[in-house]
Amino acid sequence: MNNDPNCIFCKIVTGAVPCFKLHEDSSTLAFMDINPFNPGHCLVIPKSHAADVFTIDEASMAATARSARVVATAVQATLKCEGMNLVQANGPAAAQSVKHFHIHVLPRRTGDEAKLNWMPSPGDMTAIGKLAEAIRRHITK
Ligand code: 5GP
Ligand code: ZN
Repeated sequence: MNNDPNCIFCKIVTGAVPCFKLHEDSSTLAFMDINPFNPGHCLVIPKSHAADVFTIDEASMAATARSARVVATAVQATLKCEGMNLVQANGPAAAQSVKHFHIHVLPRRTGDEAKLNWMPSPGDMTAIGKLAEAIRRHITK
């Protein structure tokens, strides 16, 4: 189990920093976000420190996704949300502020204008195809 003593979420895992805990198993923890975008906004993390999707190990990623499903279902049962996003940010341009992998369970309300929504518009199929080919070459599994 990795622990970064300077990481706020690692401090929550050890109990050094308090949280409103929702769910816990041997490798994951879920707790309320203290700066909620909407009521019920919460976070699901691996207990073992990993900064982002590029460095988290497969088992921790799978366990965190499993817990996110459990917690999202409980939030939905509680709040009967009109919608819900599971959001996971990596890097500054994606607005990741805490460098410990986490999945936001984000209840949505019609018209709440969360900034992560965009209007789809058709892309350049040649460019999309070329990029798909380039990405496929980097698929390692
Ligand atoms: P990010 O911006 O990295 O995707 O999300 C980090 C989230 O962690 C933010 O929504 C922020 O409100 C939440 N957060 C930051 N510090 C704490 C804390 O000490 N306790 C809790 N419960 N949430 C935190
Ligand atoms: Zn950490």
